[in-house]
Amino acid sequence: MTIAQIQDTIHRTAVEHGWWESPRSTGEVLMLMVTELAEAMEAYREGNPESKDIPGFSRMEEELADVVIRLLDFAGGMGLDIDGALRAKMAYNEHRPYRHGGKVA
Ligand SMILES: [Mg+2]
Repeated sequence: MTIAQIQDTIHRTAVEHGWWESPRSTGEVLMLMVTELAEAMEAYREGNPESKDIPGFSRMEEELADVVIRLLDFAGGMGLDIDGALRAKMAYNEHRPYRHGGKVA
């Protein structure tokens, strides 16, 4: 399954569950991705226990999956080509110089 196919499936599920019945605020949706990152940080701080909802996976794995789900749902709703952009950016990054920009992190 490609990223584009996963994006379509995630967005269709969100639409079927009523999350796109009214226009979504871009800022709100972007910040909801940040809240999932914060949940991943909390999982890390708590020793990254097993997820209660998806047995066999850690809470950090679950929360990072939530980040991807929110991102691809948003992209689906906005008609963004994340699959293409991801591949283009990966190719671009492969040819950037060592530690480009000279920053320490
Ligand atoms: Mg979550």
